[in-house]
Amino acid sequence: MQGEERRGAQGLRPMNASAPFDPIHVRNPRTGERDHVIKPATPDEVASTADRLRMNQPAWLDLGLEKRIEAMNAFADAVQDNRQKIFDALCADTGRVLITHLEIDNLRHMTNRMAGFAQDLVKKEAARNSAVPTIMARTQLVPYPLVGIISPWNFPFLLGMIDSVPALIAGSAILYKPSEITPRHAAPVHECFAQVPALADVVDYAMGAGATGEAVIDNTDAVCFTGSVRTGRLVAERAASNFIPAFLEMGGKDPAIVLESAELERTAQVLLRGSVAAAGQACQSVERIYVARPLHDALVARLAELAAEVTLNTQAPDKGHIGPLIFGKQLATIQSHIDDAVEKGATLHCGGKPVEDGGTWYPATVLSGVNHTMRVMTDETFGPVLPVMPFDSIDEAVELANDSRYGLSANVFAGSEEEGVEVGRRLNGGVVSVNEASLSGSVHEFEQEPFNLSGLGRSRMGPAGVERFYRHKLILSDLSPETRGINAYAEPATNA
Ligand code: NAD
Repeated sequence: MQGEERRGAQGLRPMNASAPFDPIHVRNPRTGERDHVIKPATPDEVASTADRLRMNQPAWLDLGLEKRIEAMNAFADAVQDNRQKIFDALCADTGRVLITHLEIDNLRHMTNRMAGFAQDLVKKEAARNSAVPTIMARTQLVPYPLVGIISPWNFPFLLGMIDSVPALIAGSAILYKPSEITPRHAAPVHECFAQVPALADVVDYAMGAGATGEAVIDNTDAVCFTGSVRTGRLVAERAASNFIPAFLEMGGKDPAIVLESAELERTAQVLLRGSVAAAGQACQSVERIYVARPLHDALVARLAELAAEVTLNTQAPDKGHIGPLIFGKQLATIQSHIDDAVEKGATLHCGGKPVEDGGTWYPATVLSGVNHTMRVMTDETFGPVLPVMPFDSIDEAVELANDSRYGLSANVFAGSEEEGVEVGRRLNGGVVSVNEASLSGSVHEFEQEPFNLSGLGRSRMGPAGVERFYRHKLILSDLSPETRGINAYAEPATNA
């Protein structure tokens, strides 16, 4: 009965609230129906899975890097062979076609890239002379035995693989917890791991929500987390009290600065795509736009024209520019940001209301007259919303862009590359794109680390992407023919 309370493991809770390990009914974002059920793993189940994986990890490590890379290539082949099953699962959870194909295609490139980084890294293990002439040093790269990977719902496959692939190449076993909002891909992906004998015993997954995630942190030796700042803080605290490293990639509120010298049409096209692609459900979406005052009116007008051309894929997943909101509750956040802005005086040029058709879609929305008292300029919206604010000097633009608790990435549009780079150097963000948006979606071989609340821990791009799973152990050998006995510490005799 609604509102009644019963006593459970967590104390009193309302009857209509589900317990942490009750089955979770997964919503299909296109239909709005809950057409899939997962059974969350309990802490005991997570602990016994973790014990098994940890027991099997030494054999995986002993295979050596080249055999591990071979196994990861065989896994990538298995994903291609089972592509349709994985695609169907992802498409059911996200309502997207093109992005789903891109997510799956990325695996092969990621595997090759991380394998190359690892091959370079192991060269560090060669013996070398130390600064003390008789002492020889050997580095041993020792992976964390078991890595926990906790991922969000917006790019379910990609963001699971982004940590799984390098951790496995490094020689760790992995325990993967997908988001409970988009969990359907985990089983078919696991079947692909199971088809590769060397990998079958060092990879597993645990379904569930926060309580299962906590158990993953409690039973692993390092944790990779991608998700919101609120959860990231909880993960960081728990990992710290367990004394394990946490690699955290959290949300953003990416700014775009449009200098007076920028080319208007190109800038407008890129900003629109950078804000509304994936329906804005990307951590590196452009979330706020600062434009030199002389360009302001023309940019807002052009953005509104372009936004009106953005189509929603309500009829079929492969017909339209943007898909449904994957997480139903995200609507409340998007709408509250827009309503708050309009109540405080912003002008709505287009969009601003959801389209309900079983699932929920949100049209491209352009706002002007915004300022930093409005949540749409300070909090992560995670929707296809373009709020535009004018500035009068570059210093002011930089100050506004840096006035954020986030620092994931940023974008600058300028008449010349040099001018854009100069402004980019002053921005607080792990990566800055010049005359494009979110270029880090295409370039992965260099390191980048989020600033402020957007993350903590080493870069998951570039060589650090794999190096972060290794502890550096040093073996030092004394090659001197002479022995230094206790007399080496004898105080020199004095004449006194
Ligand atoms: P979320 O924080 O709600 O959930 C992320 C994961 O954490 C889920 O698997 C969830 O079950 C798990 N979780 C929840 N509570 C937990 C707990 N107490 N302990 C351990 N695990 C717990 O995030 P979300 O809504 O799924 O994802 C959207 C967020 O992710 C946005 O803020 C977005 O910006 C961010 N994101 C960041 C990046 C990046 O690379 N920086 C990439 C994609 C998404």
